[in-house]
Amino acid sequence: LDEQVLQAQKLEAVGRLAGGIAHDFNNLLTVMASYAGMAREGLAPDSPEAHDLDEVLKAIDRATALTRQLLTFSRQRLSDVQPLDLNGVVRNTDSMLARLIPSNVERRIELATDLPPIEADATQMEQVLVNLVVNAVDAMPDGGRLTIRTSRSRLSGLHGADSTAPAEDCVCLEVSDTGVGMDAATLARVFDPFFTTKPLGKGTGLGLATVHGIAQAAGGRIVPQSEPGKGTAMRVYFPLVRPAQEAEPDSANPGSSSRA
Ligand code: ADP
Repeated sequence: LDEQVLQAQKLEAVGRLAGGIAHDFNNLLTVMASYAGMAREGLAPDSPEAHDLDEVLKAIDRATALTRQLLTFSRQRLSDVQPLDLNGVVRNTDSMLARLIPSNVERRIELATDLPPIEADATQMEQVLVNLVVNAVDAMPDGGRLTIRTSRSRLSGLHGADSTAPAEDCVCLEVSDTGVGMDAATLARVFDPFFTTKPLGKGTGLGLATVHGIAQAAGGRIVPQSEPGKGTAMRVYFPLVRPAQEAEPDSANPGSSSRA
């Protein structure tokens, strides 16, 4: 449990720092995109200057995506927590995921029927899925099989309770791959912010820290399983919508679902 406290403290400190930088950076990127866009408009489409500016705009896009990831990581963005169908999230991201997955990777999707709703932010769930899928793809440079699975499950330690608490009903999102896998030392560090084994420019080391943060905010837990040379399964468990909360009228305080 000490480990968990330490992890939470580290996350909070790095999150605050990253969030502050990302926020200011995002404003600067907006200015850059605006001026570069205006300069681009006055140019002949096939001129070398137009090509150069397109490259600048592309780099700005990438930087914007990165700062957005940092902002989510630090949870500065307001989240919109609602009863959510996880299967719907998988279906909605399907075309985006299809583009992320190269042709040498077989994609399997197994969705449970009658999956109960969880309480979470749809955009954050998409981010969880995308981050896990990107990692799975990166782990299979020579191809393999990627499986996205949803299921009903039972697990203890939800809502931040320790694992001696009684098990409760929950929903599991599993992303598994037949890739390189991880040894115990790597596995122990995967949720550390900025821990990455990927080359500079490819990995930020924020993917799983983000997934961890989002899962925790939703009262969930992430349980990794991996074997070197065999592959990895990342299972993220989310508690169900609690009936009492579902019935609670929110009219006295509209728009109160946001969390700082
Ligand atoms: P990044 O993907 O930017 O490196 P992450 O936090 O998402 O950051 O992942 C941290 C590290 O965990 C990765 O660099 C990799 O070493 C390891 N990892 C994560 N997912 C997998 C996976 N599915 N298979 C093998 N290693 C993984």
